[in-house]
Amino acid sequence: MTMTATTLSKSSECIELENRYGAHNYHPLDVVISRAEGVFVWDAEGNRYMDFLAAYSAVNQGHCHPRILQALVEQSKRVALTSRAFRNDQLGLFYQQLCELSGFAKVLPMNTGAEAVETAIKAARKWAYTVKGVPRNQAKILVFSDNFHGRTTTIVGFSSEDQYKDGFGPFTPGFEILPYGDVAAVEAAMDENVAAILVEPIQGEGGILIPEDGFLRRLREITDDYNALLMLDEIQSGLGRTGKMFAYEHEEIRPDVVIIGKALSGGFYPVSAILADGEVMGVFRPGDHGSTYGGNPVAAAVARAALDVITEEGLVERSAELGAYFIERLRAIDSAHVAEIRGRGLWIGIELHAEAGGARRFCEALMERGLLCKETHDHVIRIAPPLTIDRSQIDWALDQITDVLQLA
Ligand SMILES: *Cc1c(COP(=O)(O)O)cnc(C)c1O
Repeated sequence: MTMTATTLSKSSECIELENRYGAHNYHPLDVVISRAEGVFVWDAEGNRYMDFLAAYSAVNQGHCHPRILQALVEQSKRVALTSRAFRNDQLGLFYQQLCELSGFAKVLPMNTGAEAVETAIKAARKWAYTVKGVPRNQAKILVFSDNFHGRTTTIVGFSSEDQYKDGFGPFTPGFEILPYGDVAAVEAAMDENVAAILVEPIQGEGGILIPEDGFLRRLREITDDYNALLMLDEIQSGLGRTGKMFAYEHEEIRPDVVIIGKALSGGFYPVSAILADGEVMGVFRPGDHGSTYGGNPVAAAVARAALDVITEEGLVERSAELGAYFIERLRAIDSAHVAEIRGRGLWIGIELHAEAGGARRFCEALMERGLLCKETHDHVIRIAPPLTIDRSQIDWALDQITDVLQLA
């Protein structure tokens, strides 16, 4: 069949085109989303689903939030992209808002999360050579097993997931992978050449893995002892997901570098950034680093609106309250398949026993019932709805999950 129509109304036709012409680097559930609003998405046939993945927390503010949409449209009409060779009238306001929100002195904007992680790596290395005094090209960055920091060649080079790196080498040296949560391993790996520890406060892609209480605090003490930087990848955990603005607040520490992205734009446009104080950010001189789209006026305007929505709609508090409720109700479900329910805020993993036959079939059954979840690492059903979800919507979802967990 040849298709010439510019708009395809049928899901099966969309799927066929994607499969025929697209690279097959994803294995999505066969739901073709053509419209979205708040916690809901609709497929090409008009069936409604509740979105429990929220674009990996990029749409914490809910799909197509009208206020962020308005910022996008209005700014796009005025000026979309300048050139970083010139200034724009949105960037300073964006920086100010983010610094006041986070308590950090400086911002460096990029686009995707992976680019912001790369930026943090560059900052740490240059800081190590120019401030700490590590000999040239000797800087080490400690990372953790089951990490997810993005997909560039440098970043996948320090992944512990074989598939992420298989066939993509050779990789960038200078990274050491330690068991996540293992303080003794960190202590043993520290030496004067360690520039930084790069860590997710909770590992989302790893399966909502929450380290023991005190892990981040110990990392803070150890990095202080060795004059190394503590860099937190809060691209998924930050901006309200865990019931705090930043997940590190659960441990009452202050990192040296925070990496954010995803919900920084509420799903409209890729915006990422690193936050740091002057000593670290000061290593960047004009010409050291940059990005054509990083810090463009649309990105800045969209991010400002996205941050406004998080604070003004109380999404952080909402995540804390409703997350606690959700976890409690999930733990009360009687199902032989469930090994563990764990979570912080509206970020919850249902870990299934190996005998349950994998999480994907449960996700497919949930999709049949109008609830979109995604399996993570084979045995975990990940729950991460937009933070705008309300209690009755959670109750409806709980009914679906309860039923599906009774599957043979
Ligand atoms: C999504 C994610 C990234 C990568 O972000 P992209 O925008 O996909 O490049 C990095 N770190 C964490 C923790 C993430 O969740």
